[in-house]
Amino acid sequence: MSDLAHHLRDPGDGAERPVDSPLPFRYVYVARSRRSGGLSLGVDLTPQGHCSFSCVYCQASHPPVSNPDLTVDTERLRDELLRKLRADAAGELRDVVLAGSGEPTSVPNAPAAFDAVRQACDEAGFRLPRRIYTNARHLANPSVFDALVAWTAAGGELWVKLDATRPEAFEAINGRRFDAASHLAGIWRLAQAAPIGVQTMLLQGPSLPTPADLALDVAEAIAAARAQGAQIREVHVVTLSRVPSDPRSASVLRAVDADGLAALGAMIASRGGVPVRTFPSR
Ligand code: SF4
Repeated sequence: MSDLAHHLRDPGDGAERPVDSPLPFRYVYVARSRRSGGLSLGVDLTPQGHCSFSCVYCQASHPPVSNPDLTVDTERLRDELLRKLRADAAGELRDVVLAGSGEPTSVPNAPAAFDAVRQACDEAGFRLPRRIYTNARHLANPSVFDALVAWTAAGGELWVKLDATRPEAFEAINGRRFDAASHLAGIWRLAQAAPIGVQTMLLQGPSLPTPADLALDVAEAIAAARAQGAQIREVHVVTLSRVPSDPRSASVLRAVDADGLAALGAMIASRGGVPVRTFPSR
């Protein structure tokens, strides 16, 4: 096993948190990723587990923290990234991915953190994809919106979570009730300014809309957005692959089987007019 592949974590598990690990990396971790086809260098800007969603399927824990200081130490982030990138002598890393155990755009200095990632990749000569995965809840913040557009202008990819389109479905799946129309408008405004990918989770569980209804809602929203100039490069349709951190969710949620997922993916591709890849449960 290479040096890099020691201490592999699951994507979404986040970096080793200082409270439970003496290891020296706070923001950066290495994960094996099906979507990248190899090793991903994960960047977790919220090692405290802070997230503005509370998805029913989330495998990361989100311990309550009162008045957390979410500011990212960008010098440390840059240093950790450089150390991991330079340790990749065998060229095993397929991408750098901002994801982890919370929402990367929720930190107060997200634009500076994105810059630090970009600078470290450039300094290390890392030319493979750099990707931000976001739940899109902070697009109304102009500094976040502009930083995401700048990220794509510098060659980075954006992947936006879209599991629902209706308020009650957002609440059931993403654990938050908000103005769904404004949320969607923010996503499509971003997609008019910069190309995005969409990732959609389809799963089965009590009190959840059916996967078929959700897939249809997403397909129609994408078609309508594209007609208004939204640039949607690809949709990734995923289903439950890892055990949710919430025990009740873990006991009742079920993945969509591979054939069902493929059929729903084909429907989204046809109605939405976009390329779709599906990722069945492992
Ligand atoms: S957006 Fe959802 S899945 Fe992602 S970290 Fe937050 S709660 Fe978990």
